[in-house]
Amino acid sequence: MTARPIVRLKAKEGRRLRAGAPWAFSNEIAMLPATKTLKPGTVVNVVGVDGHPFGTGYFNPNSLIAIRLLDTHPDAAPDQAFFAERLLRAKALRETLYDRPFYRLVHAEGDHLPGLTIDRFGDACTVQITTAGMEGLREPLVAALDAVLAPRDVILRADTPSRALEGLDSYVRAEKGAIGRIAVEENDIRYFADLGHGQKTGWYYDQRDNRAFMAALAPGKSVLDAYCYAGGFALAAAKAGAREVIGLDSSQPALALAEESARANGLHAKFVKADVFEELERLGNARETFDIVIADPPPFVKSRKDLEAGAKAYRKLARLSARLVAKNGFLTLASCSHNIAPDRFASECALGIQRAERQARLIHQAGAAPDHPVHPMLPESAYLKALVYALD
Ligand code: SAH
Repeated sequence: MTARPIVRLKAKEGRRLRAGAPWAFSNEIAMLPATKTLKPGTVVNVVGVDGHPFGTGYFNPNSLIAIRLLDTHPDAAPDQAFFAERLLRAKALRETLYDRPFYRLVHAEGDHLPGLTIDRFGDACTVQITTAGMEGLREPLVAALDAVLAPRDVILRADTPSRALEGLDSYVRAEKGAIGRIAVEENDIRYFADLGHGQKTGWYYDQRDNRAFMAALAPGKSVLDAYCYAGGFALAAAKAGAREVIGLDSSQPALALAEESARANGLHAKFVKADVFEELERLGNARETFDIVIADPPPFVKSRKDLEAGAKAYRKLARLSARLVAKNGFLTLASCSHNIAPDRFASECALGIQRAERQARLIHQAGAAPDHPVHPMLPESAYLKALVYALD
């Protein structure tokens, strides 16, 4: 057996690795000719300039995040047994948190499986691989998933835009079973999701607790759910006894799923295809108000260079939404962009609310549900921010 390739950090580099983060950036690495020619995704041992072993990782010479650590031991074998052990640990945590098998099973670095996200929907799983390293380990991973969960359907959602940065192609296919529409059980509601064609992995489990929080405020209230996708917040509010619920989204397939869920649960909600900014302007100009407004948009800051434009968009969304909140109503503003820090997001929201000439009390600040563990040394993995305000 040939020895595993070694990737060495430059002198004085590896600050984050030494602090316990699972990443090293390309500028921290001694790019020797033999290093540069390693195939993207090669499993390597990572060492400091003094030979200090940082562990086993995978390497991509073409990626900004050149090393992602799989294990703190060198020469760890990322085989089926390795994945089975990580998956069992991930599953045990979720089983402690939830009674039913509907959750994010693997949250990448947060579950010590960089480049991998798995969502579980009963007998079906969506697997999202975002790096060349994890793509190269797909076979033992899928075999381990089969051994641990024996899912009926395993859908590979290899279609995130970030795959291009890793030199990967884009595809969606059923590794096992079939691609289709499934039910999602959450907060005592049966939602529907499309695992092949829906957005991301098909369902946004990250907002589970925030949906429940808003639902608790909703009895007897009118609710506007902007960017409602398949009806997550809207139907939770309807189930809790909201008087009137309107969901807005630009995606017709998402609205169709929301409508189907409303029918299946015997709930009343109106779902409208609209551009949210245009519709909020229109409703504001018509002096319409709602007791509760929720705005959970797609990421406005997709990369760091979009920070200023995205921050401005969050501010505008806050202003347009705050204008629609009735007296003594509530407003939820969310961001799923890891490229905007929580304090910056909060200050843009505050500014937007102020520009709508509203007084606000911030009553709740939340992140993603606990099936989205954050790696303690990787603040980027805490991407979701949700702020709930009471408006006077
Ligand atoms: N709140 C949802 C998740 C929202 S994801 C939940 O709880 O599940 C973001 C949604 O914004 C997607 O459904 C997408 O279709 C929608 N979207 C993106 N741009 C939009 C726009 N300009 N107007 C309306 N909806 C938009």
